[in-house]
Parts: sequence; C-alpha cells; structure tokens
Amino acid sequence: MLIATDLDGTFLAGDTEARQKLYQHIATDPDITLVFVTGRGLEAVLPILSDPAIPVPHYVISDVGATVVDGRTRQAVQPLQADIDAQWPGEQVVAEALQGFPGLRRQEVPQQRRCSYFCEASALTEELHRIADSLGCDVLYSADRYLDFLPRGINKGSTLKQLVHHLGMDPQKVLVAGDTLNDLSMFEQGFKGVCVGESEPALLAATTDRTRVLHSHRVGCAGILEALAFFRFLDHATLAPAPDVTPCGRSELAIVYHRLPYEEVIENGRVMRRGHTSPNGIIPTLLSFFADGRAGSWIAWSSTNAGEAGFETHTDVDRVRYPGLRCARVELSKDDVDVFYKRFSKEAFWPTLHTFWERAQFREDDWQVFLKVNRLFAERTAAETAHGATVWLHDYNLWMVPAALRELRPDLKIAFFHHTYFPSADVFNVMPWRRDIVGSLLQCDYIGFHIPRQAENFVDVARGVAPVTVLETRNCAPRFLTYGCAVGLDEMTTAIEVHGRRIGIGAHPVGLDVRRVGRLLGEPTATRTMDRLRRELSGQRLILSVERLDYTKGTLEKLIAFEQMLDQNPELQQKVTLIAVCVPAAREMTVYDALKVQIEQAVGRINGRFSRVGWTPVHFFFRPIPFEELVAYYAIADVMWITPLRDGLNLVAKEYAATQGLMQGGGVLVLSEFAGAAAELHGAVLTNPHDPNDLRDKCLYALNMHRAEAESRLRELFGIVQHNDIVRWGEEFLAAVAAPVEVA
Ligand code: UDP
Repeated sequence: MLIATDLDGTFLAGDTEARQKLYQHIATDPDITLVFVTGRGLEAVLPILSDPAIPVPHYVISDVGATVVDGRTRQAVQPLQADIDAQWPGEQVVAEALQGFPGLRRQEVPQQRRCSYFCEASALTEELHRIADSLGCDVLYSADRYLDFLPRGINKGSTLKQLVHHLGMDPQKVLVAGDTLNDLSMFEQGFKGVCVGESEPALLAATTDRTRVLHSHRVGCAGILEALAFFRFLDHATLAPAPDVTPCGRSELAIVYHRLPYEEVIENGRVMRRGHTSPNGIIPTLLSFFADGRAGSWIAWSSTNAGEAGFETHTDVDRVRYPGLRCARVELSKDDVDVFYKRFSKEAFWPTLHTFWERAQFREDDWQVFLKVNRLFAERTAAETAHGATVWLHDYNLWMVPAALRELRPDLKIAFFHHTYFPSADVFNVMPWRRDIVGSLLQCDYIGFHIPRQAENFVDVARGVAPVTVLETRNCAPRFLTYGCAVGLDEMTTAIEVHGRRIGIGAHPVGLDVRRVGRLLGEPTATRTMDRLRRELSGQRLILSVERLDYTKGTLEKLIAFEQMLDQNPELQQKVTLIAVCVPAAREMTVYDALKVQIEQAVGRINGRFSRVGWTPVHFFFRPIPFEELVAYYAIADVMWITPLRDGLNLVAKEYAATQGLMQGGGVLVLSEFAGAAAELHGAVLTNPHDPNDLRDKCLYALNMHRAEAESRLRELFGIVQHNDIVRWGEEFLAAVAAPVEVA
C-alpha cells in the first residue's frame, strides 16, 4: 500500500504513543510506500528527514505539489518534475506581478515553483484572480491565511495522482491523510482518505459527502492508525498496542565507553583481567560512581575471544568496591575493531573534528561498519538498563548510538560527553553523514563538551540541520576566557529545543586526579628520576614538550620555532635544552608515518647545527614515558611548551600545573590558545602556534620571566586545576544531566 500524508497537523501530530506506533510500523513493513505531501518547501522538509525517530519516506511531494523528489536521494522524480516546471512562469515574474498588491505579505520560508504569501480572505479579489490567470497560475488559499500561487493545474492531489500512476500502483491501495484545505485536492482524486482530528472546518465541509473519506476524531497519527484499520489496510491485531518486548535490565546508570575499565590479556589460553597499565584519568572517576553499590553497567567492546563459544558477555569489575557494577562486553571481530576504531575514526572523524578536514578520508563501507557497531552498542545498552535509567555515552566513536537507543528505549535519559574538539559548521559540514550524526545527537537529553566554544559550535552545526530554538544562554566568564584566547567565548547556549524536544548543553572541561599526581611525586621512582635529570641537565634551563605523535599537536612548528630561537639568540646556546616527548601512534595508523619522518629530520637538523660537546639542544624521545616518571620531568621543567594547532582540552597542561603547584615550583606554562584548556587555565602564557614569531617570542618570554610573576601565575593555575578536579567534573556532569527542567 501507499500512505500519502500531510506533515504538520497530520503525520507530525498526535500523542507520542500513536506517533511511535505508526512510525515503527511503517519503518518495519516493507510493503508500505510512504509519501510526504506537504505545503513546506523541500528545504523545510530536510530537518524531518534527519530526525531518526521519523521513518524516511520513499517520496516527498513538497511546495504544495510543485516539487516531487525521491526521499533518499532527494533528486527530482522525472518526467513528473519536468512537466510541472514547464507550467511555472518563474519566481521573478510572479513576484513582480504581485509587487505592491494590497494585503499580501510574502512568506519568508523556502519555496520553489510557487510564490507563497500571507493574507486575509478579503485580499482574494477578482483582480488577484485576473493576475493569476494572466500568469498561467492557480491560486490556493488555506487555513484563513496562506495564499499560494502555483503552476496551473498543480496541487498536492494532481502530483500525487501522477506519482501513483508513475509507480504503477493500484489507486485502491492508496490512503491519503490531511488536515487543511490545501490537502483537499488529495481527497478529490478518488483515493481513500482520512481527515484527522482537529482538521480545518473548510476541509471537513468539502469532504463530508465523500464515502471514501473518514473524518477521524483522533489527532494526527492516531487518526491515520484509525483509518488504516477502518479501510482494512491493516487488521486490528497488527495495530493493537505492541506488547512491551524490549527487555529491560537492572542498571540505573550505564557508562558506554570505548574501553573496558580493565585490560584483557590472554595467559595460557585464558582471558585474564588486570588494571590499565596507562590509567586514563577518567576511568577511576567513572568507576567511583558505583562505589555506593548502585546497580550499573559498563558497556564497552571487546574482541578478546570474539567468535568463540565461551565469549563472556558479562564480567565483574571489582565485586568488593563496586558490588552492583557489571561490564557488558560488546563482541566485535578484530576486523570490525580495525575499521571502526583504528581506521575510520582516525582517518575520517579525527581530522575533521580538529579542523584538518583536507586530510579526512570518507569511505561509505567504513560508515556502514560504524553504524553496525553503534547499533550493537545501542542494543546492549537497551538490554542492560532499567526503566528511566541514565545512560552516559562517551565520544565520537559512539555518535550513532543515541538514534538507535532512543528508538529502542524512549524512556531512557541519554547523556553524551564529547572528549575531542568540536568544530564549527564550516568544517563539520564536510562530513558526508553530518545530518545522520547531528540527528542522532539531537536524540540526547544532555550533551557536554569541554569548553563553551565547542558547545556553541555544536549548536551552530545543529542549526544547519534543523530549526533550533535557543531556550537558555549563560555568560562564560568568569570561569572561562571570553575574548582572551582563540577558543574563548562570552556567552554560550545551555538549552535548545529541536523537533519539540529539550536538549541541555554544557561545558565541562575534564579535570585531573591531583591527589594521584601528589602520591606519585612522593614515590621513589619520581625522586630518583628528578635526581638523575637534575644531574644530567646541570646548568641548563629545561623546556619540556609532551604530546602524542599527531599533526594536531604542532610538534614540527614548535621545533622550527626552537631552531629560530637558538639562531637569533646565540646566548641561549648551551644554556637551554628542549626535551620533546612524542608518543608513537599504534603501528596500524600509517597516517602518521610522514609526520614522524619530518619531525626526525627537524630534530636531526637542529642538533646537527647547534650541538656542542656536552650539549645537545633537542632530546627527542619517541616513546611514552611512564606517568610515574613523567611527573619528575614536569617537576624540573622551567618552561612547559604545549603548542597544539587544535586540541579538545590537553591534560598535559593541567598535569604540569598540578605538579609545579604541589612542588611549589616556579615553572611557566606556555599553552596554545587553540587548546581547549586555554579557555580555562587563567595564568598560562598563551601563544598562537600558527604564528612562528609568536611561538618563539612566548617561549622566550617564559624563559625570561621574573620569578615573582611566574609564581603568581602558577598560583592561579594550580588553584583552578585543584578546584576543578576530575571528581568535580564527573559530579557536575551527572548533576547537570539530572537537573530538573524549569518550565517557564
Ligand atoms: N602521557 C604519558 N606519557 C607520555 C606522554 C603522555 O603518560 O610519555 C599521558 C599524559 O600524562 C596525559 C595523556 O598522556 O595524561 C595525554 O593527554 P592529553 O589530553 O594531553 O592529549 P591527548 O593524547 O588526549 O590528545
């Protein structure tokens, strides 16, 4: 069968239950062809197409019948569209003929092959009809205010009839649905139809004698459902409320993260679990939410033992410390992990998110794997969580989970935290799947970013996908910089409404476990490393740089600036040493190979030019330094030089501030104003890494800084890092997710 439905007041109306039931039925029944027939312009239909809760129509007839496109490709259905185009005199011709006509006001909405106005019924004079005749147009007036000038003979009904004929469908198997007078033409083609509840009286009057038209008292989708049963398109059993088959779990809080909270190693053929060798700062914090014994799930992928009979879906984390917490492992093959995690995320999303979109490679096959994996995550989450539970999703690897999860479990509170940078629409929109991604994120109840700029960029991107109403804004100062850095902002959006749903937005920069840094500083490894470094670097000022090998980190730019600094300031030679720690990427990530060669060449060149017996200007470590040793490097560095070209936050900056603060040192943090942390870390010397002169000058400034200024800056920095620590981050995020919505 074919369902041809108007949107506003019809397919988009009705109570939530009826809407969900109709949408799910259409989405899962391959025998239904769905056609949207709307007075909106095609551009105004696009937001609905990116809403994952609404089934994608096979065809869209928009502009009151003047446009007809395929619902998936959005390209014209020919020759139908060409026939319509041939009837249209052109926008300028019509607009000029009606220029200054009394009582008409042009509608400021997208429109094609028609000109739409607002007017009172009294404006519909003979003169207006005469102009329409002379232009070869029809006039359509509906809802006591909308006036459309359309190509002659074109309306919703005529185009639908052409489409049904074009598709070779049996007209007996068509159901039309509408609620205003501009839907009348659909009922006039002899199709079965329903005027849904609260229809315009003029439509009801005009269709009252038609035996094939049902006047339903039920609004929107409920009226369509009634008509489907009334005309026996579907039997009552099919339309009866679906039993609640979605299995509900027991978890009140589910963390959905790309990593398990422990590492899996295979020893003697058995899977063994142990703590992460490089404990990511947020894992212990996320675990701590389960220390009160609350029932919870940690959902993450695992490819260990995947495909084998004994694959364990559920494992314990720590029965004593977190008695209510279970891990739910999403089984992925090694191939899926390679595509989903190592290749696609790094080659398509990472560069785009960090504004290096020219480097991005988009492969449709990879996207399909990404969708499949995200669907698995959503299904596992749906099975784990109790009614009304909170789900906390982490990062862009899981972008498409909200869409699938909302469909499976409308009752859940879905929160998302974005760990990377989030660019503006100019950059984000190069992504081929931007509508799907944003449509999915807009199913969340709350979305958090590190800093206001990233949150506002998201709102900017969302605005390009669907109509966004800003419900709340908040000043960013004093916590965040406003005009003082490249990623600063004076005001941010904190709540929006899209598709009738409220979405909270927040800025939550990830914090540090300062106590852990303190503990490590007191341990022998750190003390020994400090002693050794002090000996080896005796008489030298130390500049430290610590980052992963990544083009976003600006390592090459920094090395070139250092070379210039030595060149132009010979007095620094043999007095200053740069230790550059660069953590290699996984071997499979070949995108970094060329950068590695360039960095090594730069290091070789600088050392070749300036080295003296007993002094090497750049010590380059192409390997990770264990964190318990790294804190010793932080402790003795005079200047920490962190210069990413773009960074979501940058934890290294905070770790340096914490270490120096705890040691009551006088080190200076020079930080790129393009790192998220720059918006938060008052007290850092900010630099623009895209400007070689500034990069060099700010490092020099830090080297020459008076001790009193350095100490005062450090006090400010340390205060921030200590106060906004990782525990506060987690608590504030969950509190914001749980905050009751104030109804105005
Ligand atoms: N890190 C480390 N050893 C190293 C280099 C880095 O343990 O040799 C850690 C560092 O302490 C920090 C993390 O890696 O916690 C890097 O985080 P950041 O936010 O600075 O950068 P990302 O890698 O997330 O872009």
